[in-house]
Amino acid sequence: MNYTELEGIVLKRVPYRNGAEIINILTAEGRKTFTAYGLNKPNAKNYASCLLLNQSVFTLGIQNQKLTLKEGTCLKNYFCLYDDIVKMTATQAINEMILRFIDEDDGRIYRYLSRFLIALEEGFDPLTLVVIMMAKVILFSGYGLEYNECVICGSKTNIVAVDYNEGGYLCAHCAKKAKETSEYLKSYRYSFLVDDTKLTYHVITKTIALRLIHEFHHYLISRFECDELKGIELFLEVC
Ligand SMILES: [Zn+2]
Repeated sequence: MNYTELEGIVLKRVPYRNGAEIINILTAEGRKTFTAYGLNKPNAKNYASCLLLNQSVFTLGIQNQKLTLKEGTCLKNYFCLYDDIVKMTATQAINEMILRFIDEDDGRIYRYLSRFLIALEEGFDPLTLVVIMMAKVILFSGYGLEYNECVICGSKTNIVAVDYNEGGYLCAHCAKKAKETSEYLKSYRYSFLVDDTKLTYHVITKTIALRLIHEFHHYLISRFECDELKGIELFLEVC
């Protein structure tokens, strides 16, 4: 049998036949799925590596193009998030979006998810983190929005509004709607621009963060023509 080693974050677990489970992980190369046996016992050797959100290294056997877990080593656990309803619903909301809107072979969001979990654990503002993660999901979904220049004329100056139907920033000349505050326009741009190493540099005001979450949610479900996301609705109820 051939073997491969993968490092990833556990996104989803689904029970399979004969007590096995299908484990879905996110890696820097995209999402991978493998089968794991005997995880229902807390003393099972691979138990910790497969817990939801944990970041682990997996040694997988390859047979008929299917992967089976041989050995898992947990690098970082996030048990602390399980007991906090706001943090837990925030991660569930982001996981749901990654699974639904990002291609299976696209791993660009991995480093963001990794830093997002650390920042949540450290107690940084969950609303700001969810706004940033939603902006990254939008960028990597194939329906990216414009945040550098007017989406109609290309002007980089006098930006006054965001129009989701047009695809992003609009200048004063092209905008047919009311002028937005500069704080809103900056927060929108910041969420797309910010790098994974700087997630905790700036807190977005609560009112603006809530507005951006609603707008990004509406934008994603309208582009993908799907129903409201349960995860984000639950998160907004508890925060
Ligand atoms: Zn313009």
